[in-house]
Amino acid sequence: MKNVAWTARHRFFLDAPLRVGDACCLDPLAHQLVAVLRLALQDTVVLVNGDGFEYCTVLTTLTPRQASGQITATRPVYTDPRIHLTLYQCTLKQDKFEWVLQKGTELGASRFAPVVSRRSVVRPAAALRTKYTRWRAILREATEQCGRTRPPMLDEASEWSELSLPPETHGFIAWEAAEEAPSLGDAAAAVMAAASAQPPRLALLVGPEGGLTQDEVNHLVARGWQVVTLGPRILRAETAALAGIAVLMERCE
Ligand code: SAH
Repeated sequence: MKNVAWTARHRFFLDAPLRVGDACCLDPLAHQLVAVLRLALQDTVVLVNGDGFEYCTVLTTLTPRQASGQITATRPVYTDPRIHLTLYQCTLKQDKFEWVLQKGTELGASRFAPVVSRRSVVRPAAALRTKYTRWRAILREATEQCGRTRPPMLDEASEWSELSLPPETHGFIAWEAAEEAPSLGDAAAAVMAAASAQPPRLALLVGPEGGLTQDEVNHLVARGWQVVTLGPRILRAETAALAGIAVLMERCE
């Protein structure tokens, strides 16, 4: 394969088909390419669209409102998570929640489901609708930064009492007050060992700053979720979310 500038620093997710030899419209990126990144014609960027490949693209048109590129080469990438993990995160103060979205993407979560629980700061779920556009931008930017090819999905916020485990999914509840619960790592290893050919999808629920109540946990256990511990120390919710994702990706991916 001829030497292509795979070291191009700038990567962009584009929800469009990509193929070597094709020209592609980059208008949505024009302002960022020109005004923010100060790129020039013939510069190279890397495009991804979630198909597991990256596409080397030479800029052939570039104004603040219009941009296009010519795709010159492609290669497979192995950065997308090989296990499907959904983080059910009880809503937190805005900056903490957004930090979990960004870091959870880097660590490999495939889906984020905001949950409004008894002790959530923000209520009701509908009040979160105004955040989705900003949250999706955070997921896309984190995907581009860490080299994945497809951003995680973002679910609509739901009330904890409405939660139900999707099919073929094993759900873990990280509970700070759990007694006699297995560690998340051991519980996940047992689930993977028991799995047949196709590993199950995983879900991890983490409470809000105020923690989870006994009856919230009982309600979910009755619906098939498994209580696990993240150790003897009380972690902040954002710490617990990222520690949990890291443990699951390390043990299961
Ligand atoms: N306000 C509570 C702590 C809540 S921590 C208190 O101070 O006691 C926020 C969330 O992080 C918890 O609901 C739980 O989901 C998770 N978490 C924190 N530490 C944990 C641990 N040691 N084991 C399991 N989950 C934990």
